Amino acid sequence: MYADSTKSLHYVGRFAPSPSGPLHLGSLVAALASWLDARAQGGRWLLRIEDVDRPRTVPGAAQTIMDQLRAMGLHWDGDILWQSQRDAIYQQAFDGLTARGLTYGCGCTRREIADSALRGNGPALDGEHPYPGTCRHGLPAGRQARAWRLRVPEGTETFVDRWLGPQQQDVAQAVGDFVLRRADGLWAYQLAVVVDDAQQGITDIVRGADLLSSTARQRILARLLGAEPPRVMHVPLITDPDSGLKLSKQNGAAPLDATQPLAMLTQAWNALGFSPCAASTPASFLTQATAQWARRFALN
Ligand code: GLU
Repeated sequence: MYADSTKSLHYVGRFAPSPSGPLHLGSLVAALASWLDARAQGGRWLLRIEDVDRPRTVPGAAQTIMDQLRAMGLHWDGDILWQSQRDAIYQQAFDGLTARGLTYGCGCTRREIADSALRGNGPALDGEHPYPGTCRHGLPAGRQARAWRLRVPEGTETFVDRWLGPQQQDVAQAVGDFVLRRADGLWAYQLAVVVDDAQQGITDIVRGADLLSSTARQRILARLLGAEPPRVMHVPLITDPDSGLKLSKQNGAAPLDATQPLAMLTQAWNALGFSPCAASTPASFLTQATAQWARRFALN
């Protein structure tokens, strides 16, 4: 309907919301960009509910998100993947890494890591201090493993972001050995997202720029798990005009108004910097936007 699938290259995209509340305009920007990219390339677009973080999951939020996507005309392909049903799969991936000596138990508390940061192990990234490697060569006497970390290889990870251009990060230095299994026993976002992207055969990730700083970590982990890291595109975040902060569920962004899909889609489209589409229905908007997107972001 949106692209000639006989001409399509192999493309599998996904939208992966955490059900910690309803979608807001910032999340619609990411959903729309990811949907348009998949449709423009004649690809598939999957929906994954990232409910691995049980304490942050809000009952009913996943259903609201599905209803909101349908109301916007952003239909997904195939079955929904629920991370909360995949503990055994994450365990298997983790066990494989552990058998190769690539993980280790860590007894440090957040406070200890922050304190060692004060002694000079680098600035915080996304509010987290780089892990100084305290437990890398074994737990200090009398300590129990709380979390499990990946032994991050040395070196700089480079990649090209389709929106932002060339990127690089020295993960060992900027982040350190990162957590795969959290102190509360839950699987970390980084592990779950990489295992799922690999198993679902995701070729392309389009998401908000707040996750740019996770990409190098995810590429390293993907390769260690024997997967090809997906191409990435990180689209702009929307900031609240009053506070200047990123729109987020945590700071109370207004839910999408499902009764005004065309207005919502138009706002998200404008936020991506495109010129207006002269559409009177969501369906005609999506057809025009897909054509504009295909011209700007062709993959060959
Ligand atoms: N679940 C993440 C979020 O809602 C997105 C993960 C991703 O796109 O990689 O922020």
